[in-house]
Amino acid sequence: MRPYILAETNWKTIKDQNIDIAVLPWGATEAHNYHLPFATDNIMVDKIAQESAREAWDQGARPIVLPLIPFGVNTGQMDIKLNINLNPSTQLAVLDDIVDVLKRHGINKFLILNGHGGNDFKQIIRELGLKYPKIFICGCNWYQAFKNSDYFEAGGGHADEMETSMMLYLSPEMVLPLNEAGKGRGKKFRIKALNENWAWAERKWSQVTTDTGIGDPSRATAGKGEKCFNEVIKKIGNFIAELSKADVNNMYE
Ligand SMILES: [Zn+2]
Repeated sequence: MRPYILAETNWKTIKDQNIDIAVLPWGATEAHNYHLPFATDNIMVDKIAQESAREAWDQGARPIVLPLIPFGVNTGQMDIKLNINLNPSTQLAVLDDIVDVLKRHGINKFLILNGHGGNDFKQIIRELGLKYPKIFICGCNWYQAFKNSDYFEAGGGHADEMETSMMLYLSPEMVLPLNEAGKGRGKKFRIKALNENWAWAERKWSQVTTDTGIGDPSRATAGKGEKCFNEVIKKIGNFIAELSKADVNNMYE
């Protein structure tokens, strides 16, 4: 029983335990090329939340990891069988209820740890901040906590070399042999600006890729995944430890 994982701990332990910060891992349920499970984003973000919290706990921080939310925003993928979509407005409603609980129990720091590219919590955090001004709410996309090219040869972003390597390290029993994976070839927009970072439109996933992957997974290894995972949990663990110690009324220097 890890005391920093709410799903594992118990009322006897939790009722007198100091808690500085709540961490909510948020994933998605969606196809990941032919070779990775639908829960890929959930498995990765949950393990990263748990191990980052352990890292922070070992540094004296007192985080609590809440149970993962397994459904994310998949509005552009509704024609892909059993990709489950949760609209952003539903996410706001869920978060509002969770923050209300934190407020009632005097937990005034909250980290949403995101593991899915379609989730974007920035605007929701702004709106919740107006409603709960005494609670410091922040977000983190774990996949942006490192430089992809430091560990992997091919990029892509979905069921790619990075995600496949992570899964080969964290849950190899759930990964099909790589010769069964598609090439993960993703099409670009015809309009150039939409392929650059300054203009944006949602991609219709099934028109962009035939195997649901974007990024060539063929050079993925468990070793690459392990190295990357260890950097990510160190970095996010330190972040949680810093948040844990921080005074929410004195955040700037
Ligand atoms: Zn993914």
